Order: sequence, then structure tokens, then C-alpha cells
Amino acid sequence: MSAFDYDLFVIGGGSGGVRAGRIAAGYGAKVAVAEADRFGGTCVIRGCVPKKLLVYASRFADEFEDARGFGWSLGDVRFDWATLIANKNREVARIEGVYQSVLASRGAETLQTRAVLDGPGAVRLADGRRVTARVILIATGGMPAIRHDVPGADLLITSNDVFELKALPRRIVVLGGGYIAVEFASMFAGLGVETTLVHRGEKVLRGFDEDLRDGIMEALRKRGIRLVMGETLASVVRTGEGLAVALAGGATIAADTVLSAVGRVPNTEGLGLASAGVRTGERGEIIVDSYSETTAPGVYAVGDVTDRVNLTPVAIREGHAFADTVFGKTPTQVDHSQIPSAVFTTPELATVGLSEQAALAMGHTIDLYKSWFRPMRNIVSGRDERTLMKLVVDRGTGRVLGCHILGPDAAEIVQTAAIALKLGATKADFDATVALHPSAAEELVTLREKWTAS
Ligand code: FAD
Repeated sequence: MSAFDYDLFVIGGGSGGVRAGRIAAGYGAKVAVAEADRFGGTCVIRGCVPKKLLVYASRFADEFEDARGFGWSLGDVRFDWATLIANKNREVARIEGVYQSVLASRGAETLQTRAVLDGPGAVRLADGRRVTARVILIATGGMPAIRHDVPGADLLITSNDVFELKALPRRIVVLGGGYIAVEFASMFAGLGVETTLVHRGEKVLRGFDEDLRDGIMEALRKRGIRLVMGETLASVVRTGEGLAVALAGGATIAADTVLSAVGRVPNTEGLGLASAGVRTGERGEIIVDSYSETTAPGVYAVGDVTDRVNLTPVAIREGHAFADTVFGKTPTQVDHSQIPSAVFTTPELATVGLSEQAALAMGHTIDLYKSWFRPMRNIVSGRDERTLMKLVVDRGTGRVLGCHILGPDAAEIVQTAAIALKLGATKADFDATVALHPSAAEELVTLREKWTAS
């Protein structure tokens, strides 16, 4: 008989927590997973999944427009937000059920409750019950950073609220320049909403390759999104006709909805971390070692709460590696390099490996190969939008360090290119690969023109 109620107690039933709980239970551990809100966490309930469904919805506008060049004539097309949200809710509920049943099928207990640490090896549930566990995993994710410092801050909504909006706004102001801000701006614009993006930096998507940043800004502007750069919010005031959004520079923008997407913070507040000796960093993130163990022995943390690479597949990997390490007798570290990622704007962009700027900063001598071209479909549809494909190559070894794409299906293409980069492919390997014609992706294996780094 164990001295503990559980072998593993997981706090948080999102991507990382559920994977860890499932795998540990599969190794025979007695597991409980506590979820304060809905199983599935950010990704399923208010992140990747509902967002992608809304992005799909927004892209039908392009399909209708482009279809004309291919001989179609369409009647009166209409969009109904309520139908979209109802169908999105059904799909989210389905996946939520899958997350719960996958735990149950492995014999893990699911507890619908908030849980916080209560001293070493113990957790306190919302009903006051105290349970003990040999190992505790914190997988509480992150949440939108909320601005309280401006008048009218209570009128702002966050990404969490977008999925529950009762009606599609006529005019929206999106605050922020990260991927969530630009994705929502693009999605709303696609649905016909008059969209303004306000960002304090000079360019959106800090950390991405500069060509992608410039390219997406040009594309968003062409699509009618007003980009207000180098500006910050001063106040929001309710008027007879909606909201007046005042900027620090003096301008005022009329809107119906103001979405604040200025970043996310690790979900660590009130978690009782100090009671167990779990230390946090400057942003409130839980400090972990390469096996995701915190500063308190026996307490681990994975996913966004550790603020390493805040993406679902990474949280899942970390959760899985944790379970293999602690319950599967297979110490496993997660490789956080060469993680592909995408921004689901329209057009979308995706990237894997080093940007030109990061490669230079790391001391690589590089060759660049890039091509801006108009995809075949756009030539017939008349859409004035170009695709960018770019490879960053180490001159000495010929190894492809980075692959960056802006254009339709960028995410799908980059996922495959990521395998090549993981295998250490060189530019010569890309060149030796026969093109698949006609496709946009064939450009990756036919890039010949060398560019110098800027
Ligand atoms: P989460 O999934 O956030 O799960 C944490 C869970 O813990 C939550 O369900 C929460 O309710 C629960 N919890 C918190 N505190 C407690 C407590 N005390 N007791 C019990 N339960 C608690 N990533 C991608 O890879 N691709 C994308 O396209 C993408 N799009 C995104 C779009 C948006 C709008 C957002 C916000 C995020 C997006 N992400 C995307 C990021 C992705 O959602 C996260 O990286 C991922 O969900 C992190 O998983 P996690 O397990 O760390 O935390």
C-alpha cells in the first residue's frame, strides 16, 4: 500500500496535463487529473481548435471572390455568425469529451475542480479536501495578459471572449502584434469586419524572419486591414454609437469591439507554489530543469506554465517526456529546437528553424535563397498576392538552417520541410529532390538564385 492517495496528481486538464496523465496511467500509475474549467484546456476550448474553425470560415470570402475568375457566378452569399459559433461549440464539446474519455480509458481519475499545492506532496481541492501524491505535475497553462492600467480597460475583451461573442462586430480594434493579434485581425477582416490593428512596435510578429514580417504586413494592408504601428492605447470610452478608442498619439478610432491580445502570462497565481518550494521566474513562469522538474523535488511542470515554447505540440511532448521519465523508466528530454510554427492569417505564414537574423546573430555565415512569386491560382483569379519561399543556408556545411513561407498552405508545407531540417538536410539535398509539378511547394527544391544577407 502506498502512503499516498495517488502516484501522480496532475493540476490542469489541457494539452500537457492530459497527455502526461494518460501515459503515466498507461505505465500503471494511479493518476488523478484535476481541471477547474473544461477538459481540453486552452487549445481545445479557446485556442487552436476554435480559432482554426473561425479562420476557415473567414477564408470562404476568398473562395467566393476567386471563383469568378474560374467561371463561377455566385448569387447572394451571406454569413451567419451564430451558425458558425454553434457548430464550433459542437466540435469543441466533442473533442472535450475525447480528452476525458481518453483518461478514463486508461483508468485515470478526472476531477472537475480547481486544485492548488498545499505543502510538499499535497494538493487542496476546491471543496477543501486535501489529497496526497508521490508526484505532482503542474500543467495549468497560461492566460491572456489583461491591461488594467488604462481608463475603460473593463470594456476590452480578450481572445477567450472572441469565441463567445453574441454577434459579429461591425468595427473592431485589435491591440497587439503577436500571432494571436494578427490572426484575429485577419479572421475578422475576412468576415467583413472593419479592422484596425494597433501595435506599439514598428512591425508585427517579433522574432519571425524579417521578410515574413514585411510580407505579412503588406498582405494585411492590401486586404484592407488598417495597421497602426508605434502606437498604444490611452483609453476606451463608451459612446452612443459604440466605443471610442483613444491612442496615446492623439488619434481616436470608432469601434464596436476592442480585443486586447497583448500577450499571455503563465497561470501560476494562487497556486500555492511557495508552500511546496516551487520557484518562479520574472514572468511568473515555473522554473524547471531539462526533465521538467521544478525546484521542489517530486513536483514537475509542463506546457505554457513553464513559458518555454508555448505551443500545443510542445506541451504534449513535454507531458509525454515527463511520464516516460518518471513512470516509464526512460529518462527523456524534449528537444526545443527546430519546432515548426504557423500564423494562421490569410495569407498564412509558417516557419521552421532559424530566421536570417537569428542565424547571423548566432555567428553563421549564410547564403539565402528566396523567391517571391504569384501562385498559379492567383493569376487566373486576379488576386494581387504573392507567395514567399525562403531558405537560410549555412555556407560552410550547406545545411538548411531555416525555411520560411508566406502564402497559401504555408503550414502544411513547412510541417513536411521540418522533417528535412530535423534530418539535417543540406541545400544540395533539396536540389536533388525532384519537383512535384505544378505546386507552390516545388519552389523549395528549385530555388537557385542566391541572395546576400541584409
Ligand atoms: P492549457 O491547454 O492552457 O491547459 C491548462 C488547463 O489548466 C486549463 O484547462 C485550465 O483551466 C486548467 N487550470 C488552470 N489552473 C488550474 C487549477 N488551479 N486547478 C485545475 N485546473 C487548472 N498553439 C498551437 O500549437 N497552435 C495554434 O494554432 C495555437 N493557437 C492558439 C490560439 C489562441 C487564441 C491561444 C490563446 C493559444 C493558442 N495556442 C496555439 C497555444 C496553445 O493553446 C497552448 O500552447 C496550449 O494549450 C498549452 O497547453 P497546456 O497544457 O500548457 O495548458
